[in-house]
Amino acid sequence: MDEFSFIQSVQQTTYQQSNIIKGIGDDAAVFREPAKDIVTAVDVFVEGIHFSKQIMRPFHIGYRALAANLSDMAAMGATPVSILVAVVIPKRWSTKDLEEVFSGIKFLAKKHKIDLIGGDTVSGSDLTLSITVNGTVERGKACYRSTAKSGDIVFVTGSLGDSQAGFHILTNPETRPFQDEGFYIKRHQMPSPRVDFAKALTSVSRMSLNDISDGIANEASEIANASNVSIHLYEDAVPISKSFNQFPSSLQYKWKLFGGEDFELLGTVEEEEWPKVQYAAEQTNTKLSKIGYVTLNEDNKSRVYLINNKKEKVILKKEGYTHLK
Ligand code: ADP
Ligand code: MG
Repeated sequence: MDEFSFIQSVQQTTYQQSNIIKGIGDDAAVFREPAKDIVTAVDVFVEGIHFSKQIMRPFHIGYRALAANLSDMAAMGATPVSILVAVVIPKRWSTKDLEEVFSGIKFLAKKHKIDLIGGDTVSGSDLTLSITVNGTVERGKACYRSTAKSGDIVFVTGSLGDSQAGFHILTNPETRPFQDEGFYIKRHQMPSPRVDFAKALTSVSRMSLNDISDGIANEASEIANASNVSIHLYEDAVPISKSFNQFPSSLQYKWKLFGGEDFELLGTVEEEEWPKVQYAAEQTNTKLSKIGYVTLNEDNKSRVYLINNKKEKVILKKEGYTHLK
């Protein structure tokens, strides 16, 4: 299939969002947003670094790439409306595989009424997928990492460590079977970004939010640093799924605190506004846990502390994955 037919094959015939004026088919897309703030983000995924065909079907590769993007929108309190997808395609990838990548993207896009409005298609040596997402938020309502204050409650959605557990199951087939394998594998291959929950939070006046792509220790530290505060977390309050304790305890500890890609939301909010957050969670069927609190810095250093299961207070170091190291 040539580039032109490929683009035709991914093109939508109609757009769901009324603000799309020009989608695929010209030199650039056009959309109009008179009254809101526009929120935009881009992610790049490279075969061999972010995913491998061994444990992910092409469908999952596309789905997961978009899930990561949408999670960034949720972490800003924004509603995603459109995406642009750039692909670098190696010769060894078949048209069918590539179409599957796009089915994965479109499956999740449709669920959230997001339109594919453009992209770029080129050939190269490693499959590379870059998705740009555009979203909107009420004026001045974007949720920044820098707004946490001493006294705030720290909360998290969902359960943590599941994606890493799924990855472990997929990459250590000789150690199978495990309980609830399908659940953990799905959490790895098809994570659910908290878009609906984030949209339901508009009545909260001040909230810091971050999505958990690199593990909660890392994300909490980003909020603490950006807000110039410290964060205390209780290990026994960190939510885990019901059969998570089947894994060795050292792995549980590592996965729930440092394991990335659960795409849950970590946030802070003042006590008086906590009921609004609980209400948003109820409305959107989102599991929500209070896991700690924000404090002033001691000796001018932003830190993340963990009150562990032995009631000791330890400093949590960042241990997420970093590129360019
Ligand atoms: P140009 O040469 O002007 O960059 P292209 O031939 O790259 O144009 O793209 C033509 C149209 O197809 C544009 O609207 C572009 O956004 C869209 N397009 C190209 N590749 C993709 C893709 N992978 N996904 C979605 N739209 C794409
Ligand atoms: Mg182009």
